[in-house]
Amino acid sequence: MKRQVIYIFLLGLVIFFSGCKKQDETSDVLDKVLSRGKLIVGVKFDTKPFGYIDEKQNLTGFDVDLAKHIAKNLLGSEDKIEFKQVTPSNRILTLNSGQVDMIIATMTITDERKEVIDFSKPYYMAGQAILVPAKSDIGSMADLNGKRVIIIFGSTAEKNTRLMAPEAKISGYKTYTNGYSALKQGRADAITSDDTILMGFAMQDDSVKLLPKRYSKEPYAIGFKKGESSTRLRQRVDLILDEMIKSGQLNKLKAKWIKY
Ligand code: GLU
Repeated sequence: MKRQVIYIFLLGLVIFFSGCKKQDETSDVLDKVLSRGKLIVGVKFDTKPFGYIDEKQNLTGFDVDLAKHIAKNLLGSEDKIEFKQVTPSNRILTLNSGQVDMIIATMTITDERKEVIDFSKPYYMAGQAILVPAKSDIGSMADLNGKRVIIIFGSTAEKNTRLMAPEAKISGYKTYTNGYSALKQGRADAITSDDTILMGFAMQDDSVKLLPKRYSKEPYAIGFKKGESSTRLRQRVDLILDEMIKSGQLNKLKAKWIKY
């Protein structure tokens, strides 16, 4: 009899906890954010001026400010936020494994990415550019053929460069910090990525220059887990972006962070 009572009790526990899990799995991301009281956002930590650690060791930048604005709008305070570091090669996995509610990480909308995640409306337009040592005679994408060129794994420039300069000797790095220091150490002739990101390096270093030509259009948008569970959150974020565009706040953010 005693045993039976224990069995029934255990069975009850199993049913109770599996019920909880199911509810958690099916609840949508906006509800999760609201009940948790905190927004979890994937951003870059090494990509000036979008997401980077400043001299005071604070995480800051355009994408970071945008994330705080969204947290304030959803939860009443820009402090109700947790940031997780992402890189171009792990950001989609981080999002789809549920570790973050959204990604705000200089991410371009592409058809390929639209197959696996959903995007907000665009909030910024960048373009692919080339950064070279100041004394370099490289002047264009075509000049990269035969040269040692750095790309960041998982970035749009990785694919574009292979198409536009098929003879380039490409080496890939996981982070911008590592790619840039390889260029500085003379282990490559050029690095190619978005103009905004490369300008972050060029503005603080006279020994490199950003070439003037742009080779793509890179509309940045916020990434969400694909499907219904993120739809309400994505729609809320689109409304927030609309409001920021209408009120001029998005332009203010651009003026604050993009200095060229
Ligand atoms: N915007 C480009 C991309 O989404 C490059 C920037 C980055 O590496 O995050 O791939």
